[in-house]
Amino acid sequence: MPGCIFCDIVAGRIPATELYRDEDFLAFRDIDPQAPVHILLIPLRHIPGLSDLTPDDADLTGRLILTATGIAADQGLDDAGYRFVVNCGRQGGQAVDHLHLHILGGRQMQWPPG
Ligand code: 5GP
Ligand code: ZN
Repeated sequence: MPGCIFCDIVAGRIPATELYRDEDFLAFRDIDPQAPVHILLIPLRHIPGLSDLTPDDADLTGRLILTATGIAADQGLDDAGYRFVVNCGRQGGQAVDHLHLHILGGRQMQWPPG
């Protein structure tokens, strides 16, 4: 998608610290980490956000979560715990309109989020 920075990262036009890539997903470190571990997991395909998922994406959506839990385990976060966040829309705090799941860990999380 022209003008999408995460599509540019997928294509290698914008550099990123990649941690994982397969035929459907890419994980890379967030440029402005909010925790000692802050990774973004995105589908390679441009899906703007959660609200754009359809029943055809059920398998992809399930594998998004399972891929993220695998990355969290690889990062050594299983014992202490971690948090997944998916912001949706302006009021949900979404700044980049390419679906992404935040994997946050390495510090005590607070609730409620801001
Ligand atoms: P959102 O607010 O949309 O849920 O999260 C977008 C995230 O993307 C933010 O945490 C922000 O730091 C991250 N981000 C924005 N631009 C870039 C970039 O060019 N490279 C990387 N690695 N992360 C980015
Ligand atoms: Zn995109």
